[in-house]
Amino acid sequence: MKLTSHIAISFSVSLGLYLIFHSYLLALSSFIYGIFIDLDHFFEYFKECGFNLNVKKFFQLGENYGFKKTFLFLHSWEIFLLFSAVVFVSSVSEILFGVFIGYAFHLIFDQFGNLSKPLSYFFIYRWKNDFLTEKIWRIG
Ligand SMILES: [Zn+2]
Repeated sequence: MKLTSHIAISFSVSLGLYLIFHSYLLALSSFIYGIFIDLDHFFEYFKECGFNLNVKKFFQLGENYGFKKTFLFLHSWEIFLLFSAVVFVSSVSEILFGVFIGYAFHLIFDQFGNLSKPLSYFFIYRWKNDFLTEKIWRIG
């Protein structure tokens, strides 16, 4: 999903959280995490392009399945479930709950944006396919 879509979704969700709970921390942490989770594309970028960061190239490769391998550690339902368990067994802070909400909405919208590849958001599936983008996203 494109960055502008994530910004719009995260803003809407965070506004809704603020209107319900009247907490800036909750709304802001949800907004920030709902967008910046996509920074896990940096792992692929730096692995394949080196440490010479070109922001335009980063977004172009990330949004167009341009990396040879797709790790996307945070874009994994398994990791989300582990994080959810931590959130619910710990004393939930506003920030942690905001991160949880932002994380959940981000993954749900990414998943629904790629319904033709339903397993792609499972880390184990990507691992079993050696993280190869062409296998995971069935490109080409
Ligand atoms: Zn994403």
